[in-house]
Amino acid sequence: MSTTVLVINSGSSSIKYQLIEPEEGVVVASGLVERIGEAAGLLRHTFEGVDTRLTEPVADHGAGLRRVLELFAEVGPDLGAAGIVAVGHRVVQGGARYSGPALVDEKVLADIEELIPLAPLHNPPNLRGIQVARELLPDVPHVAVFDTAFFSDLPDAAATYALDREVAKRYRVRRYGAHGTSHQYVSRTAATVVGRPLEELRQVVLHLGNGASASAVVGGRAVDTSMGMTPLEGLVMGTRTGDIDPAVIFHLSRNAGFTIDEIDDLFNRRSGLKGLSGQNDMREVHALVADGDAGARLALDVYAHRLRKYVGAYAAVMGGLDVLSFTAGIGENDDIVRAEALRGLEFLGIELDAARNTGRLSEPKVVSTDGSRVTVLVVPTKEEQEIARQTVSLL
Ligand code: ADP
Repeated sequence: MSTTVLVINSGSSSIKYQLIEPEEGVVVASGLVERIGEAAGLLRHTFEGVDTRLTEPVADHGAGLRRVLELFAEVGPDLGAAGIVAVGHRVVQGGARYSGPALVDEKVLADIEELIPLAPLHNPPNLRGIQVARELLPDVPHVAVFDTAFFSDLPDAAATYALDREVAKRYRVRRYGAHGTSHQYVSRTAATVVGRPLEELRQVVLHLGNGASASAVVGGRAVDTSMGMTPLEGLVMGTRTGDIDPAVIFHLSRNAGFTIDEIDDLFNRRSGLKGLSGQNDMREVHALVADGDAGARLALDVYAHRLRKYVGAYAAVMGGLDVLSFTAGIGENDDIVRAEALRGLEFLGIELDAARNTGRLSEPKVVSTDGSRVTVLVVPTKEEQEIARQTVSLL
């Protein structure tokens, strides 16, 4: 009988899940519950190529997960027969404490709760997901896999803000990063694709989804990353500013009468591609550019300029660059963004191959020329499979 892990990603109004055979990374079944707490909830469960879709109210996360387990029983696969050995949970913020996956117990739950001030949008639903899953699946171990873990031992010089030390220490202000599971998976996979030992490589990973982050990885260890205390810092994102002068906050507060909550909303939900072009989806931005829209053109230019800066900065941090990988929705699918982000970086030894770079890619692939000193890759991220792998690694 095969062994499977149920991977759960519990968000504020959704639960996403995959049942995975961790050895081969095979997804046996997957699905999601959306609009939890709204009048019409949505459920989707996929098994053996068949999509089951339902619309019904889902009161809360407990009710949502109960329906998921019912769907497994009704549509399949039977979880017992599928050999489920553990549940792996995505948790966004593990602070400086967790450098790897953790077997969930009362202490781990208390830590996730205690870290809520550092991730007020994410840790509460993550915690809720673990609690209800433990109640409903009490006979298997539950493992928390933290999005910050890969960055938990960033060098001090990269993790530290130049802020009053006492204030920083007291309020735990430092750079924690995010998307760590993806950066870890992609950097490890990239080494396999280029056929060189991970230990030898200086890598940049560009995770470009709705949220976006860059990391510098030396010998398999993260030495810098673009997200900071929260996912707001760094690259331009779908709706987030990324890097911005903090004095903009003082200005908007003192001279424009914005409240802190309004600025939070502005920076996190009404900026980035959306703020510049009106659209947070990169495909829509391209459509506007094709129509001659100046705001969208500028959005794309700002997006690519920021990427280029980070690639150059990380090459400097690492003293060189061997492999650069693109991943996530935009990184995997958008050849225009890949080309614009790397334009002018030939001096670093980066030469994209226009023909190889074309089109959407679902398997890892080299998109640089044979003569390029830096190997440029597209590596589709598989965060759930990485969570499943880390979950069983702990058992
Ligand atoms: P997240 O998991 O952070 O919500 P994804 O990794 O799914 O995000 O990435 C979402 C982004 O990927 C969107 O901006 C979307 O426009 C972009 N994207 C998805 N498919 C394509 C495509 N074929 N071409 C360009 N961009 C794409």
